[in-house]
Amino acid sequence: KAELLRMENVSIVFSSPDEADIEAVRQVDFTLTRGKTLALVGESGCGKSVTARTILRLLDRNARIGTGRILFRAEDEAPVDIVSLKPDSPAMRAIRGNRISMIFQEPMSSLSPVHTIGDQIDEMIMIHERIDQKAARVRTVDLLEQVGIPGARQRADAYPFQLSGGLRQRAMIAMALACKPDLLIADEPTTALDVTTQAQILDLLRALQEEYGMAMLFITHDLGVVAEIADEVAVMYLGDVVEQGNVFDVFRAPQHPYTRALMRSIPRMVRRTERERLAPIEGNVPSPRNRPKGCAFTSRCPHAFAPCTGDYPERTTTGEAHWARCHLLTHDGAPAAAGLRQGT
Ligand code: SF4
Ligand code: MG
Repeated sequence: KAELLRMENVSIVFSSPDEADIEAVRQVDFTLTRGKTLALVGESGCGKSVTARTILRLLDRNARIGTGRILFRAEDEAPVDIVSLKPDSPAMRAIRGNRISMIFQEPMSSLSPVHTIGDQIDEMIMIHERIDQKAARVRTVDLLEQVGIPGARQRADAYPFQLSGGLRQRAMIAMALACKPDLLIADEPTTALDVTTQAQILDLLRALQEEYGMAMLFITHDLGVVAEIADEVAVMYLGDVVEQGNVFDVFRAPQHPYTRALMRSIPRMVRRTERERLAPIEGNVPSPRNRPKGCAFTSRCPHAFAPCTGDYPERTTTGEAHWARCHLLTHDGAPAAAGLRQGT
């Protein structure tokens, strides 16, 4: 397996002038592999996006990396620790937008409204490949065709506002691919789209991944999307990865009560009724400022018992490359442990 990027024990700290620092993300570990997709899944505010932005060193001024390493190895070069690079250093800039690109829910966060999409993609290619605009345009039209934009040659002269939402999303993907990235980070790229367009974009990303052999880090709050796109999944709750594993294993035998609750809230694809669709998790996510001591899920967990409020749960391995952080998995006498393991 060609390991491309490894996060080791990464924490992200937010500070504000008059309050204590908050550890918004704690002890995140994962590995990204060429040709494979890891999904980070969780409710909004759980730290998924900030984790992704950390890889690109695009944190806001009030955030910093507290601990950990992010080892990135492109080609056969020695790995670089992204944490050791200055955000605006040449080395970091060479990684950002060259080795690693990112797409978002809102295409206008990466497309300029005042230039045609062709000019913007030409520009990326010219920087990346040091060729003139005429040669770049040939590649641009190829890329636009590859992402499924009909009439690519003419559409290259369109401004973003002249395209539909779905086509704008495709144009943004073409731009992200212009540098032939080793890693594509996708932050909720289909969330704003209708169901049909969403399915088309997911298909497109899968096909492009196969063609380019890139690794993908896919951020979503939707387990249905995870099932469609990911090989592995890391479930985040309030800044912690609470469970991680192969998608098949996690869906077949989710180990953490939070993962189970998320599973129950997946809309049924077949014969869905309103009642089946709505199985929300009781209670609200607390603010990271009020994160419970011990397990962060304590305030909403139906299985919480004494140890949960005291100790941060260790990782428990429950299968090959599948683990979860929950005291039920280590306390045999725990009230709900037996039921949890049997899948009730
Ligand atoms: Fe629930 Fe306790 Fe497990 Fe946390 S550690 S998920 S509170 S049972
Ligand atoms: Mg987000």
